[in-house]
Amino acid sequence: YSEMSLQELEAEKEQLFSQYKDWQRKGLKLDMSRGKPSTEQLNLSMPLLDILDGKSLMKCMNGVETRNYGQLEGIVEAQHLMAEIMDCQPEQVIVGGNSSLNLMFDAVARGYMFGFGGCTPWCKLERVRWLCPVPGYDRHFAITQHFGFDMINVPMNEDGPDMDVVEGLVAADDSIKGIWCVPKYSNPQGIVYSDEVVRRMANLKPAAKDFRVFWDNAYAVHHLYKEKKKILNILHECEEADNPDLVFEFASTSKITFAGAGIAAIACNHRNREELKKTLTVQTIGFDKVNMIRHARYFADVESVDKHMEKHAKILRPKFELVIKTMERDLAEPECGSWISPKGGYFITFEAPKGTATRIVDLAKEAGVVLTPAGAPFPYHMDPNDSIIRFAPSLPPIEELEQAADVFTVCARIAYVEKLINMKAV
Ligand code: PMP
Repeated sequence: YSEMSLQELEAEKEQLFSQYKDWQRKGLKLDMSRGKPSTEQLNLSMPLLDILDGKSLMKCMNGVETRNYGQLEGIVEAQHLMAEIMDCQPEQVIVGGNSSLNLMFDAVARGYMFGFGGCTPWCKLERVRWLCPVPGYDRHFAITQHFGFDMINVPMNEDGPDMDVVEGLVAADDSIKGIWCVPKYSNPQGIVYSDEVVRRMANLKPAAKDFRVFWDNAYAVHHLYKEKKKILNILHECEEADNPDLVFEFASTSKITFAGAGIAAIACNHRNREELKKTLTVQTIGFDKVNMIRHARYFADVESVDKHMEKHAKILRPKFELVIKTMERDLAEPECGSWISPKGGYFITFEAPKGTATRIVDLAKEAGVVLTPAGAPFPYHMDPNDSIIRFAPSLPPIEELEQAADVFTVCARIAYVEKLINMKAV
């Protein structure tokens, strides 16, 4: 496109708009905005509901009664399961509730209200700043925005956040109290942190003693292909680096079993954990242990999680590949944007030509395809280049996805042609 004359571009625009109007006439209603599992995926976990019946033994391994109060840290079997998923030690894990996002919010809230390691609670400080690798997960940024922290963008490289930037900032400024990380199959780019990035993260020397790495391992076992990417164990690396208090790790089974009705966990070292429990024990008498035992019995051996995730992958893989193929077919030759083909996780990131993402999302919406709003993967919803679009292919059936992908590429081309026309006209 960039080599076309103004006239050629105008003709192309007209032709694309006629395709676009054909789509509009179809009255589509497709939602590609959130990374939700499809019904077919949810059905994979239905046996979970049959695991317990009126005759089931409701006590767990060490005799704890799951139907009664108690066992603040979660049942031992569930600690083992979540430790398996997070690649850490069971005794580092607290299994709490149904949502890892909730655990992250609570962890930030504890730093805010009570402070970490005897430091001043963040609510008493003039200002608190937070590092946000971008693009990132919008709900992370919503938490730190809600607490009124200043968010600082950190660029993402192919192997994780730019650690030169992270190291420089945390060493120089003690108002920086945390960083959001999704270390494996990141949301939205599907990036896997390299060993070097994990080690440098564990070896950070922050000016603030109460700086914490929020290690959201949401996609730890969510591989799309046979090759299962591995990352270093952050808790172990922090111990090795003599930095054991640095990290809180999180995960859940939301995208393994039932989204919002699975089990979630936080893992950290002994000191952080004892501090956490001081608040947790006031907050609740204990979480839902019946759901924990259901999960632990369903995933009784090590291989069962892997096998289960392969079934998810079988459903998800064709969806990802369809979107990527459509982008290659329609957008490669006109050199309209670029995209990352992830090896796991839930998203495809499309990098549109600068200044066109909002227009693409608006065009798609008017043709009945709802995408994640442009800007959403950035703090304050501000994408400095207006170019990143997060595509979530999991939810719709493949026939609908095919239509959505077709609409998307027409919209992307229109927005790019319009941009070139504007540039030539100036
Ligand atoms: N972290 C990331 C990176 C996610 O993408 C999601 C879900 N989209 C969550 C956390 C939410 O997890 P949960 O359901 O355990 O609250």
